Amino acid sequence: MFKINENYLKLPGSYLFSTIAKKVSAYSAANPDKEIIRLGIGDVTLPLAPVVIDSLHNAVDEMGKAETFHGYAPDLGYEFLRNAIVEHDYKKRGADISADEIFVSDGAKSDSGNIGDIFSVDNKIAVCDPVYPVYVDTNAMAGRTGDYIPEQQKWSNVIYMPCTAETNFAPELPKETPDIIYLCFPNNPTGSTITKDELQRWVDYANKVGAVIIYDAAYEAYISEENVPHTIYECEGARTCAIELRSFSKNAGFTGTRLGFTVIPKDLKSGDVMLHSLWARRHGTKFNGAPYIIQRAGEAVYTEEGQKQTGEQIAYYMNNAKTILEGLKSAGYTVSGGVNAPYIWLKTPDKMTSWEFFDYLLEKANVVGTPGSGFGPSGEGYFRLTAFGSYENTVKALERIKAL
Ligand code: PLP
Repeated sequence: MFKINENYLKLPGSYLFSTIAKKVSAYSAANPDKEIIRLGIGDVTLPLAPVVIDSLHNAVDEMGKAETFHGYAPDLGYEFLRNAIVEHDYKKRGADISADEIFVSDGAKSDSGNIGDIFSVDNKIAVCDPVYPVYVDTNAMAGRTGDYIPEQQKWSNVIYMPCTAETNFAPELPKETPDIIYLCFPNNPTGSTITKDELQRWVDYANKVGAVIIYDAAYEAYISEENVPHTIYECEGARTCAIELRSFSKNAGFTGTRLGFTVIPKDLKSGDVMLHSLWARRHGTKFNGAPYIIQRAGEAVYTEEGQKQTGEQIAYYMNNAKTILEGLKSAGYTVSGGVNAPYIWLKTPDKMTSWEFFDYLLEKANVVGTPGSGFGPSGEGYFRLTAFGSYENTVKALERIKAL
């Protein structure tokens, strides 16, 4: 008789977004005349940029002719895309990364989940709290997190690094030494960032204790302030301790188009073994490449016109972020994020729990956000709003919140 991977049975139900959906539809059914504004989800709403659409059309036409048809993509991804990535995302930032250290993929969610394949189950992971749930859940599936403790909403074998107002929403170096450290900046859900000096401290620490940092830079394009690193490879020594994850989802609206990449420098080793070789083996064995037409669309993002058009989209979302941030501040809320990230993180008023505030906002303002406690125990008492709605709805939502 076959046996299942029992680690899956340890996973608590993913209640967050399904509970939100249930509550919203129940409220809608009871109040059909109310217009609900959703500022909860982390999905983009603007259409793909014209230059991306043109590139897709051209690539589709190529696929229809024998002379220009493309089958399986090269293992690491097409060179035209990897070269564009290196030029734009790394060389321009003074980071020493070469095209053969880039692995093109179908997005950062799969990469952040799959990267665990190349590490022993014995490694201990450290995560920020609150956190993008994929890092913990995929490690739980692999059997790396111990047992789930429902009362604490924590796993027994995970190092949690609280990111609260007390720590300026950044993690502190953990007391217990981890093997794998997940960092995500700009951060989902808090919208916080760290400075280059602070990130350098993490790189130095990882090199000292022999840990690897998995650095999720999915929101890099939203950085507006100086002194905030765009890639971990701006830090000295990162080539020997860091893997970086990138995505086209939030910088170019590819959430439904699917494209991302992972960077593994060849200097990152365990003894004599390059992690690059392990990931190349994994990638070549379990993945058959992002589609040619999508890689061409990704290439278009890096053209001058592509940068201009996607830059305008980001500016549109960040104008929403500013509207939310300023609106909440003027209504007396304690808020952070929203400057280098499309997420605004607010403290719930009057000691309300995250879910109490969710209900309050839904019922009194007909606005939907995301309870902070859904991202980890240290998210309790906080709430996330996103800048991915339309400007008109964002303004309307803030007017309603201010009128409460
Ligand atoms: N990493 C973080 C921190 C995210 O918030 C998200 C999506 O919301 C992802 C990765 C997923 O990116 P992708 O769409 O490339 O899978």
